[in-house]
Amino acid sequence: MQITVVGAGIIGLTTALTLEEQGHTVRIVAAGNGPQTTSAVAGAVWFPYRAGPPAKVAAWSSHTRTWLEQLAHDPEAGIDLLTGYEITTEEGLHPPIPWWAANIEVTREPAPVIDGHMAWKFHAPRVEPARFLRWITARLRAQIEHRAVFDLAAEPGDAVINCTGLAARELAGDDLIYPLLGQIVITDPGTVDLSVSITDHRNADSIFYVIPRRDELVLGGCSLPWPPGAPAEINPEITARILDQARSLGLAVGRVRTERVGLRPYRLEVRLEREGRIIHNYGHGGAGFTMCRGCAEEVAAMVTAP
Ligand SMILES: Cc1cc2nc3c(=O)[nH]c(=O)nc-3n(C[C@H](O)[C@H](O)[C@H](O)COP(=O)(O)OP(=O)(O)OC[C@H]3O[C@@H](n4cnc5c(N)ncnc54)[C@H](O)[C@@H]3O)c2cc1C
Repeated sequence: MQITVVGAGIIGLTTALTLEEQGHTVRIVAAGNGPQTTSAVAGAVWFPYRAGPPAKVAAWSSHTRTWLEQLAHDPEAGIDLLTGYEITTEEGLHPPIPWWAANIEVTREPAPVIDGHMAWKFHAPRVEPARFLRWITARLRAQIEHRAVFDLAAEPGDAVINCTGLAARELAGDDLIYPLLGQIVITDPGTVDLSVSITDHRNADSIFYVIPRRDELVLGGCSLPWPPGAPAEINPEITARILDQARSLGLAVGRVRTERVGLRPYRLEVRLEREGRIIHNYGHGGAGFTMCRGCAEEVAAMVTAP
């Protein structure tokens, strides 16, 4: 089949790659790619954060995790297998497994760094977005055609896949998707353990995470509803709060290199559905890297479904 993919963030690129692997002829149209995308700002560690619906997210995420684990064998892909710890809110000796871990193995263990707390421990592939976006692009037969699309129905092909993230708000007239601002601080690694990622979402006003990369640390974060259409802005107070949290936990992080900000394309439920010739695949919130392959495989199944 001839398929047009609109968007070249992690969702568009993974969808295009998956469709090409299944023998389709793909063209990609995108207003921006690489550093111009939200995807370039992500952590990006495997964790189903700010995305729904839970059962589907758990399934898409576990498929994607397996895929990322396989790709980690190629160092050029920029994927490394870390140990993830999610600080638990659950009380008691044997709390139920969290919804996001429905299809994966987790154990409950004392949290590293954050003394006196328990955490869910799991295998967490971590992607370096700049490397991985380049790596996928290099594997595609399709070239990216750079232009903005204003009418999905005007695009040619047996199917048109809408992977425009937050821009789907206008392009698909969908006000159920809205921005959640995220801010990160990138530092030298210092003496922090580069094999462990820790997230603490217990307090929505001061979420904290550390995501090690090969030669730097990503410290976060926040998740703030943001006015649609307004540009993301770095808030120095958030940076100061994140660095304070790191220091108060005794994390010996290095010099601050830069701060980054981005708008997560949040929707209560990912929109993965067909509308005539158009298939929507957007609204992955804080988990685009975590769900990309699972969602792409579902798109590929929809393309050939009668
Ligand atoms: C600070 C921060 C940290 C994050 N950390 C993680 C993490 O650790 N793990 C994780 O899984 N996720 C994380 N995320 C979430 C992740 O970044 C997003 O879920 C993901 O990037 C969404 O990808 P996307 O391809 O849908 O959107 P985008 O990356 O925004 O790509 C959209 C594409 O559509 C194109 N486009 C838009 N409008 C048009 C148009 N009209 N015509 C043509 N092209 C168009 C754009 O140019 C772009 O190519 C984080 C996000 C932020 C902000």
